[in-house]
Amino acid sequence: MKKILLWFRRDLRLTDNPALYSARQEQIIPIYIHAPDEDTPWQPGAASRWWLHHSLTSLSEQLKQAGSRLIIRQGPTLQVLEQLIQETGADAVYCNRLYEPTTIRRDTMIKQTLSKSGIEYQSFAGSLLYEPWSVQSKSATPYKVFTPFWNTCMKRGLPTDIHPGVRKLPAVAKQLKSVGMGDLGLLPTIDWDQAFYQYWQPGENYAQQQLRMFIKDQLVDYATGRDYPAKATTSRLSPHLHFGEISPRQIVYAIEHAKQSHNSANYNKQADGFLRELVWREFTHHILYHFPQTLKQPLNTRFEKFPWTTRNSKLLTAWQQGRTGFPIIDAGMRELWATGSMHNRVRMIVGSMLTKNMNYHWLSGAKWFWDTLVDADLAQNTFNWQWIAGCGADAAPYFRIFNPVTQSEKFDTNGEYIRRWVPELAQIPGKLIHSPWTMSLAQQQQANCLIGKDYPLPVVDLKTSREDALLRYRKTDRTS
Ligand code: FAD
Repeated sequence: MKKILLWFRRDLRLTDNPALYSARQEQIIPIYIHAPDEDTPWQPGAASRWWLHHSLTSLSEQLKQAGSRLIIRQGPTLQVLEQLIQETGADAVYCNRLYEPTTIRRDTMIKQTLSKSGIEYQSFAGSLLYEPWSVQSKSATPYKVFTPFWNTCMKRGLPTDIHPGVRKLPAVAKQLKSVGMGDLGLLPTIDWDQAFYQYWQPGENYAQQQLRMFIKDQLVDYATGRDYPAKATTSRLSPHLHFGEISPRQIVYAIEHAKQSHNSANYNKQADGFLRELVWREFTHHILYHFPQTLKQPLNTRFEKFPWTTRNSKLLTAWQQGRTGFPIIDAGMRELWATGSMHNRVRMIVGSMLTKNMNYHWLSGAKWFWDTLVDADLAQNTFNWQWIAGCGADAAPYFRIFNPVTQSEKFDTNGEYIRRWVPELAQIPGKLIHSPWTMSLAQQQQANCLIGKDYPLPVVDLKTSREDALLRYRKTDRTS
């Protein structure tokens, strides 16, 4: 029987875990290595660390119930693996593949070094529906546009084969030491995460529960309702997916099953709308894998010299703190701070404001999201920020500058979402909530909200900032 170090990374689950399943007949030692410096400059942000703490706690508990124990260590990964091999006499390391450029480099180096000393290193496909190199155009090049990518995936069919869960594991020797979860210092030292506990429950069991609830209550309205931030029609599975508490294959399997049991054209339409979003997730990973430079540079090279600013930190601070004077933007930024998440439609509106009206570099937004989102994911975040800035794959055309007032009127017509997150605007009646600066003094007094005092005036002029943005973008378009 082999002795295998089962190296958990972002696959914190026991079901449909190909590495774990392949090792199930052997002597398994489950390990987690905390080495955030190896992800520099994209070490997990504060909200991700919060999630990781609870997700690891949950995995530890599951492993305990299965008769095993999670061994947590800190330090340079290769060094820790070599140390563990020496302590346990393990002859193999199994893990599921990750696809970010720095991780690929590190894992390749680890594989080569361990193989040289006769240690078997095996990696498995567990976090995507398709390996990023396996979806190609007819000319064998990677896709840069979503629709043909989607069509190719549809021709292949979405995979639904999943590995059964592993519920019984051999005990781990008592003398093998693990650091305590608290020693990893993942939880914040100041109390900004209190609301997170109301919104999230990390861990595999909760991921499964969330999927079941979504299918039962929301899937039937998904495609119709997904753009309305006040409605709870989206799955909220993104952090569970990022940490691998659930696999995309498990989700596809459950959705296809639901489609079969409903067998109605409308239900299929709603469900397919959801599957399409899951494939957008694939597409972002496909892009980062094939174009790793996009972590720093725009995919569209025309934008390399685009005059984005990094100055005027007052504007950036107003955006981060949700004090821009645009209610839908402030609602989104405050939702993000309080809950570690923001509705997708609002992510697009705040992103357009930052990169187009305020002319900030898309990386300024990407970095703030990285620190504050519980679902912060390098591929999805980078892709979407480049998309909204107009410089990435299948990007929003440059002249598409979201108007926060019309977007708000369309997608939060009654101001329900705004009232939830910007309480000082709660008493503003009807349509005025979308542009409170247009209220007369009497209206402001009646609504208990003096603009410029209780709530800020808009920090940019929508018309002129839009025109300036269009000029910059047109110039870039012409110089191509
Ligand atoms: P659902 O609507 O239920 O969708 C199901 C799943 O599909 C999601 O969990 C997600 O994995 C995937 N998905 C949905 N929309 C997208 C999309 N636009 N791009 C890629 N995958 C998608 N998502 C992240 O997971 N991590 C990020 O760091 C991230 N950063 C973003 C930054 C910006 C500027 C924007 C505009 C979007 C970003 N997204 C990111 C995509 C999207 O906003 C979230 O995936 C979604 O809001 C998560 O909520 P949900 O799970 O309820 O989504």
